[in-house]
Amino acid sequence: MPKIALPRESAAGETRVAMIPESVGKLTSAGHKVVVQSGAGAAASFLDEAYRAAGAEIAADYASTCAGADIVARVQAPNAAETAALREGAIVIALGVSRQDEALGALARRGVTTLALERIPRTTRAQRMDVLSSMASLAGYKAVLLGSNALGRIFPLMMTAAGTIAPARVFVIGAGVAGLQAIATARRLGAVVEAFDVRPAVKEEVQSLGATFVAAETLDASAADAGGYAKQQSADQEAKTRELLSKHVRGADVVITTAAVPGKAAPRLIAADVVAGMKPGAVIVDLAAESGGNCELTKPGETVVANGVTILGPVNLVAALPVHASQMYSRNILALLQLLFGKDGAIHLNFADDILAATCVTHGGEVRLGAPAPAPVGAASSAPGSAS
Ligand code: NAD
Repeated sequence: MPKIALPRESAAGETRVAMIPESVGKLTSAGHKVVVQSGAGAAASFLDEAYRAAGAEIAADYASTCAGADIVARVQAPNAAETAALREGAIVIALGVSRQDEALGALARRGVTTLALERIPRTTRAQRMDVLSSMASLAGYKAVLLGSNALGRIFPLMMTAAGTIAPARVFVIGAGVAGLQAIATARRLGAVVEAFDVRPAVKEEVQSLGATFVAAETLDASAADAGGYAKQQSADQEAKTRELLSKHVRGADVVITTAAVPGKAAPRLIAADVVAGMKPGAVIVDLAAESGGNCELTKPGETVVANGVTILGPVNLVAALPVHASQMYSRNILALLQLLFGKDGAIHLNFADDILAATCVTHGGEVRLGAPAPAPVGAASSAPGSAS
């Protein structure tokens, strides 16, 4: 049976753990050996005792956790020293690694097979492994709470003996997974919500959550690609979008921006002069901060105040919700592991499977971003999905 290692995350500010005791228990019950580095789950309130009770072995340090491991489950990509300590042929599962050239190169040179969770296809079959959606939902929720905290007003309509307080106006730009969760959260807190997306297909989802969809004449169904993702707008279209949005941004108390196009810098949708025209005390929470920001004034990881408007550019926002971020991440990873294990419990790297083929970014000493799928490894000549 394969040995699965769960090391402690070493990246600054990372509070998540890749697997929680509940998932570890499922693996140990199925006969797998799981070794957890002491303290791996502590920042997410999952203590060593809970892992021990789930049947894991606790190891004192990274080297003994990963020694001889067949699979290493992580949140962030390993650093150079961590990669060097892995055995050749090990499988590393992590998030964001396909965007880190140096880490990818080191993993390939070490002969490690790397599965990059950000490349899980957005298909119905892969939904249980969709870490991006899990993390985006939590980020959308938390963004509203950050916005509300930074706002000197309340969200709901309140009728009191001291008079009536009007509800806050929230404008959500980008109605993907994060944006829809932001809309739902702002509505639950009682705000009046408007939302915009270049993909007209989301209009009904926005309305079903009780928000008003801001429609643009410039929009058309071709705003999305075959995978359902938004396509990058032309400079002309982006200028028209900015123009349309400016009125709604100026009228909002809180603006939550989540607009993203995979593989591209975030579209710049709020210019500095629009911020200057916003209400005093208004707040922008820019969830696209890490990919350049949807607002011209956003600084990743910082809070900027301009003309009385507060602009938050949170990075790794889900680290502020380590319990549920770890729980969702862990269940997603467990589903991926179940795809790797055959009925005999052994690892079957079936690269004929579309999920595995899309996710595998290093294998056999090579970085294989966009490369054809490698030959199957193990008893994996079966059809896609049959290993699950
Ligand atoms: P994302 O994070 O890539 O982008 C966020 C949102 O920004 C998207 O809705 C996008 O349309 C929007 N956007 C892009 N450019 C914009 C602009 N200039 N102005 C305003 N908005 C702009 O998106 P995501 O949340 O990861 O979801 C992307 C797609 O994947 C959606 O179609 C979603 O329904 C789909 N999806 C499918 C599955 C599944 O089938 N398993 C799971 C999750 C998501």
